[in-house]
Amino acid sequence: MAVNVRYTRYLVLALVGMTFFYLVSRTNLRLPNSASFARPVQSYNEFKANKNEYPGANGTERVNATFVTLARNSDLWDMVKSIRTVEDRFNREYNYDWVFLNDKEFDDDFKKLTTALVSGTTHYGLIPKEHWSYPEWIDEDKAADARAEMERKKIIYGGSESYRHMCRYESGFFFRHPLMMNYEYYWRVEPSIELFCDIRADPFRFMKENDKKYSFVISLYEYEATIPTLWSSVKKFMTNHPEHIAEDNAMEFISDNGGETYNKCHFWSNFEIGSLEWLRSKQYIDYFESLDQDGGFFYERWGDAPVHSIAAATMLRKDQIQFFHDIAYYHVPFTHCPNDEQTRLDLACSCKPKDNFDWRDYSCTNKWFKVNHLSKPDGWDKKD
Ligand code: GDP
Ligand code: MN
Repeated sequence: MAVNVRYTRYLVLALVGMTFFYLVSRTNLRLPNSASFARPVQSYNEFKANKNEYPGANGTERVNATFVTLARNSDLWDMVKSIRTVEDRFNREYNYDWVFLNDKEFDDDFKKLTTALVSGTTHYGLIPKEHWSYPEWIDEDKAADARAEMERKKIIYGGSESYRHMCRYESGFFFRHPLMMNYEYYWRVEPSIELFCDIRADPFRFMKENDKKYSFVISLYEYEATIPTLWSSVKKFMTNHPEHIAEDNAMEFISDNGGETYNKCHFWSNFEIGSLEWLRSKQYIDYFESLDQDGGFFYERWGDAPVHSIAAATMLRKDQIQFFHDIAYYHVPFTHCPNDEQTRLDLACSCKPKDNFDWRDYSCTNKWFKVNHLSKPDGWDKKD
């Protein structure tokens, strides 16, 4: 009997509780956005100072932009991690679209799960054969020999044919896929990346309002063995198209001798927020086609990172390239973690500052700061 009374009491309590939560959810009652819940927000320099609202607040608008991912069906589980981190730290408040591109059809499992995780609209595109195969001027035997030789020398991805198609596609084609044509800006996301801090101001809108065309969070030196003739190809392009070279460009970032040789610095292109219209411009297309004719995507192993970076550093003004200090990012094996503690606290960051790659020997970010006369963030020299 006593047992029954006790159970009845719990049952009533549970029912009252459930009813309460039901009513709260029905009436859309939300916890107040009160000062005790809101974390203080710090901005991307001036932009962030007065524009750190989520969209909708104070009439802020979304930009015509999309996330974009090139992936295989087998990348699904690594991609799930990336989407989750991007949504949790940023996109759940913005609901930007996400375009997935693949040289094979995406399977239903891939589409089902990624659509469930992305808060914006998802689109799935098949890459046309012409954009993922050998152009007719390429000697395929010579390309196969080059791969064998690079494999023998144990150059990373040296023996891979698909990696070369991937790099060429990212260099010259993704931005003109039909699914990308309606957008103005893109944010490239690869499988298994991480974002360690909240992103509270819209980087797309920052790019657009400030006439930025390209951005990065990590920069570093490229392996010489993958690009032996890239710079001579670039020089040929610059000679043929002086009209495409920008004044006040960032040549100093990629060359230590006024353009005679390449110092191998590049922005790490697995993270990119950039202007699609710039990539679709005549200057960029002329540049890509000129390089493509020279065959280095196949006879060597030119990466899309140096290809994009050299384009940005020669054909944009240097103030059109943005370093996003407070987008904390990881792609194996490097981390960008904001040095200054206040930023990490304000943005609820979960990265270890000592993992920050920016000021290490192999990074080029130091050079970027010098070229742009920027002062390093507080705490950059802290060792722990
Ligand atoms: P890494 O970052 O240089 O080690 O190269 P990844 O393996 O991450 O490849 C770069 C991007 O291209 C990732 O988004 C991959 O999912 C994608 N990718 C690489 N190879 C292929 C491929 O053969 N087909 C497709 N569809 N995507 C690829
Ligand atoms: Mn990758």
